[in-house]
Amino acid sequence: MQHAMLWVAFAWTLLSAVAPVDAAPKFDAQRAWSHMETQLSFGSRAPGREGHERCLGWMRATLDSLADRVQVHSFSMEDPYGEGRLELTNLRAVYRPEARTRIALAAHWDTRPFADRDPEHPDRPLPGANDGASGVAVLMELARVFAEHRPPVGVDLLFFDGEDYGREGDPDHYLLGSRRFVQDHPEYRPRALILLDMVGDRDLRIPYERYSATMAPHLARAVFDRARALGLPAFVPVMGAPILDDHMPFLNAGIDALDLIDFDYAPWHTLADDLDACSPQSLEQVGILLVSLVYEGLGY
Ligand SMILES: [Zn+2]
Repeated sequence: MQHAMLWVAFAWTLLSAVAPVDAAPKFDAQRAWSHMETQLSFGSRAPGREGHERCLGWMRATLDSLADRVQVHSFSMEDPYGEGRLELTNLRAVYRPEARTRIALAAHWDTRPFADRDPEHPDRPLPGANDGASGVAVLMELARVFAEHRPPVGVDLLFFDGEDYGREGDPDHYLLGSRRFVQDHPEYRPRALILLDMVGDRDLRIPYERYSATMAPHLARAVFDRARALGLPAFVPVMGAPILDDHMPFLNAGIDALDLIDFDYAPWHTLADDLDACSPQSLEQVGILLVSLVYEGLGY
């Protein structure tokens, strides 16, 4: 009798020890949402602002505790619109650095220095809830998932600075961080890069971004097929607009890249780009999709 009970106790211990490891990784939308709130609490994350510095410190400290390795890619350049120099920093959080097959998941972490689409306050910096914080929030929650469930492939979380620095009509001064990252790392050839930008809209609807769908059609199709298989209604496989974004330097370098972006967002580049316009459920759909693509394979 005592023996049997011991055996039951042992089996139970074994089961409870094994169960969390075998459980499918789960993306926690509330944690992702808390990363939105944290970023907005820093204020503007535009280059040169205090919030930029504080957000970088938070990302570094968090990623240092979760990733196998964090690479800091800092550079400076002449400010195209003012005196002095711009100090910019990309981060790369690396999981399984030894793995040759790698998937890159990316977002820009800077916010636009001015709300130039805002009729009332075009010179004030925007909160950047959707345009900035949303992609980073998803990646920061994924950083925890990958720390707790070792991914089957190498994964790099890329956080680009200076995406939204350019003035309208001056396309050369957008994408500052991603351009420089590709230029400085010619040996970096992930199997695919998936970029998240403006993925927090409470009415999330993501069509094919046109450059991605024409230059890397197999990746685009595989990702949208997976979204359909998972029953994620935000992903709508119709052709959308071409959008200049951080995936472009990668596409131009011959790397498969896909921009997941909902550009149909009324508060874009206004002070109304705040938490009210976003929802945790939107972040969750994106998170579930990326978890599936990393753990079950890209499917192409
Ligand atoms: Zn923007």
